[in-house]
Amino acid sequence: MKKNQSSRRKFIYTTGITALGLPLLSSFSNCNPSTQNKKTMNKNKLGVALVGLGGYATSQLAPALLQTAHCYLAGIVTGTPSKAAAWKEKYNIPDKNIYNYDTYDAIKDNPDIDIIYVVLPNSMHAAYTIRGFEAGKHVICEKPMALSVTECDAMIAAAKKANKFLSIGYRLHYDPYNLEMVRLAKDKVYGDVKKITSGFGFNAQKGIWRLDKKLAGGGPLMDLGIYCMQGLMYVTGMEPVAVTAQQSPISDATKFIDIEETLTCQFEMPKGIRAEFVTSYTDSHNFLKAEAENGWFQISPAFNYYGLKGKTSDGKKVEFAPLSQQAKQMDGIALSIKEGKPSKVPGEMGRRDVKIIEAIYEAMRTGKRVIV
Ligand code: NAD
Repeated sequence: MKKNQSSRRKFIYTTGITALGLPLLSSFSNCNPSTQNKKTMNKNKLGVALVGLGGYATSQLAPALLQTAHCYLAGIVTGTPSKAAAWKEKYNIPDKNIYNYDTYDAIKDNPDIDIIYVVLPNSMHAAYTIRGFEAGKHVICEKPMALSVTECDAMIAAAKKANKFLSIGYRLHYDPYNLEMVRLAKDKVYGDVKKITSGFGFNAQKGIWRLDKKLAGGGPLMDLGIYCMQGLMYVTGMEPVAVTAQQSPISDATKFIDIEETLTCQFEMPKGIRAEFVTSYTDSHNFLKAEAENGWFQISPAFNYYGLKGKTSDGKKVEFAPLSQQAKQMDGIALSIKEGKPSKVPGEMGRRDVKIIEAIYEAMRTGKRVIV
């Protein structure tokens, strides 16, 4: 890389982060899991138990927990004995910190575990979160928080009763590209935002639990559209007053039995700001774009773990040094717990989003404008 490129990267990165008053994370080295686990015997780090060792826990969260400064992978909960053996070996997890779904509640007697991280299919989020609180632990629950506002209320009530923190796995609140979109809007760098659009979609494989309404609660809106909703809200700093939504015709009735395939949605925002998104389990989309009085700014891809890119109407590139969003997210949450400060991504935010999702599905079914 040329020297001027390098310094510009550094400049843009620094500007974006410090403007939001966020700490810079130091470098992310390739850690050896077993030496890392020795390091993490440090009491300053909170112990995290991952519940559900599927794709996201395996490929993103566990590796990220080797890079964190305020928490570490202390335990696992899995229904698959072969996974337990492989993880024990790879991450040097003691037998006493390995649970299955029948022994899960015994985590309450394990002082090594401070935080339970629920990474199960959506329909299981509420039950495993509530049981986590009953075990006296803090909980991070993956998105979407739950299948209904009623479930969200029960989860929040359980957190209050246990006097523990509930956070949602909204990693993009710790991602510099998405934070830069927030900063550009908040500082009115291109004037007031007048229109915001977003899209997230990919071709989902037939047969996965994400296409099963009982387990997923819905289609791409629950899984991908929720990122677009979040983007529209954190960039504008506003929440929708009402929503409208339209479902596209289903292309394969054996694949999309009782869920939407592609959905477009409009948020009626305060101050007449136009806000809309598209989400799909067939078509590819991955962007977040804000149009303001004097120009536009966008990121695309906007929602991936790595390789995000940003640009503006006056030809500037938004670039940041690579980092692990999940390491930043889990460190941010762990630090808020250690300091007794509110989470940036609390259960109430997850509940707000599920409430909006319920309104979107009602608007899609009825064809009417639904007040949130
Ligand atoms: P996955 O299918 O890869 O893993 C699901 C895990 O749940 C597996 O270990 C599976 O064995 C276990 N499981 C237990 N009971 C099950 C059942 N009845 N049916 C199916 N699986 C069952 O899924 P994933 O991609 O890891 O997603 C898990 C959760 O994490 C979801 O809520 C998803 O929305 C969320 N997620 C979040 C992000 C993010 O970027 N924040 C990314 C991916 C997934």
